[in-house]
Amino acid sequence: MFLVAGCGSYFRPKNPDAPRIQEDEEVRMGRQFRREIKQHLKLLNQPEVERYVDQVGRRVLSAMGSLPFDYRFFVVEENQLNAFAVPGGSVYLYTGLIDRAKSTGELAGVMGHEIIHIKDKHMARLSGPDPLSLLALVAMILARGGAGAQAAGAIAQGISATRQFAYTRQLELEADTLGVRYMAQAGYDPAAAVSFLKTMDQERFLNPIQVPAYLLTHPLTPERVANMERVVRSLNVDRPRVDGADPLKRIQVLIHLERNEGEAVIAEYGKMVKQSPENAEARHLLAIAQQHGGRTAPARENYEKARALDPKRPGLDRDLGRLYTQSGEFNLAHQVLERAMRAEPREPLTFLYLGELYEKEANLREAASAYLGALNLAPLWPLPPYRVGVAYGKMGRLGDAHYYLGRSNFLQDEDERAIADFERSIKAFGPNSPRTQLVREELEMLKARRR
Ligand SMILES: [Zn+2]
Repeated sequence: MFLVAGCGSYFRPKNPDAPRIQEDEEVRMGRQFRREIKQHLKLLNQPEVERYVDQVGRRVLSAMGSLPFDYRFFVVEENQLNAFAVPGGSVYLYTGLIDRAKSTGELAGVMGHEIIHIKDKHMARLSGPDPLSLLALVAMILARGGAGAQAAGAIAQGISATRQFAYTRQLELEADTLGVRYMAQAGYDPAAAVSFLKTMDQERFLNPIQVPAYLLTHPLTPERVANMERVVRSLNVDRPRVDGADPLKRIQVLIHLERNEGEAVIAEYGKMVKQSPENAEARHLLAIAQQHGGRTAPARENYEKARALDPKRPGLDRDLGRLYTQSGEFNLAHQVLERAMRAEPREPLTFLYLGELYEKEANLREAASAYLGALNLAPLWPLPPYRVGVAYGKMGRLGDAHYYLGRSNFLQDEDERAIADFERSIKAFGPNSPRTQLVREELEMLKARRR
């Protein structure tokens, strides 16, 4: 399944004087993995959830200084307590793990740990039975998620095989120690990293047959917990520096809505609002579920009340802006999105929703410009260039349209499609356009990397 020619050199580095070549090899392999994983796992494409995970990951990365890879963060839509990292900079978090976390700090702890596995090339240091141990590891991770894993026999097999490829005790301790240090430096509460380990340990205790998948590849021992507690004490952090309310609950609600559990969310938060009408968070979350279920009027009322109670709630102005856009109240939509932009000038989601608003107003020029703003702020996110391409397509600017659709496909590792788009773009621009030369250069680079 994962036969990648020449990858043996990555696992058993023979020439330490050639780190540059090895890096490229790692990036290339990382892309290969991303493609395989996309084939086998369902990734969640919910812009708010995608951006949230990306922001937490990037915040942790910001404490690490210069980095050799373009780190990418993905969400797997599966109710499993699991996360994994693949070489070249990709981290995958399962919705089941996000759902079980009690704070964003807990997720930052998991991400710090996974990033260290990538950054310090722990997979290359795994002593598997053959040079393909990493490939086998990922195959195992994927196999556990599949339907076949439901059968008891398959689970048992999966467990024993995965154990064989689990990170070693030493690598786990390293990832814990460095991961928690960086997440604390990034402003998260390091105690959260320990509390999440304990949550997983508890799950294992309560349900010994279905051990959280995460613990199979990252074995949890009392030594690990003790080590983490020691590191946290030594960090001596008195209080975390991440400002504002924790956006995690809102993200968890969005995950539940993606699973079509809207009615349960409405029941839960409806009850909460009835009990304490002044609870801005409950009103906000209720409104999100109501809007998702098409109940615009009560959603609007709850958003507005939540806003009156707590004007600074994370994401509230953006949510309200989308509701006004959907209900055709464009002036109000502009007002709240502008307010959201003033509060967080570098938030790509606000630019994305502003683009949607302009598109609905049939102002395609401004729409494209807003989407380009989102692209500038999140250059590895495939959604903004896709929207730019569609907007240019509607304007009849076909050269630009195909170019940005190509960029979006490129970011999704869809090289063949990206090449076809770039070729169409060149054709549409014509031989005399200065843009043609630029697109041609990107096309050549893309073709070269496939070789
Ligand atoms: Zn680990």
